[in-house]
Amino acid sequence: MTLKLRCEDYGFECEYILDEGKTLGLIEKLRNHFEEEHGIDYTIEAVTQMITNKGHSLESIKK
Ligand SMILES: [Zn+2]
Repeated sequence: MTLKLRCEDYGFECEYILDEGKTLGLIEKLRNHFEEEHGIDYTIEAVTQMITNKGHSLESIKK
C-alpha cells in the first residue's frame, strides 16, 4: 500500500510529490524535502503529525 503526499498540501507552492510505501523512510524523505527545499527543520514527530492531520493513517508504520 502506498501513500501519496503532495508538498502543496502542507502549505508550500511546490510541485513535489511523494508516492511510496508507507514506511518511516517516507516521512524522512518529506522531512528532508522541507529542510532542503524550504529551509524548515521539522522533527520527524512534527511531520508525522502533519501527515496524520491530513487524515492519513500511519498506524501500520513500524518504527
Ligand atoms: Zn516542497
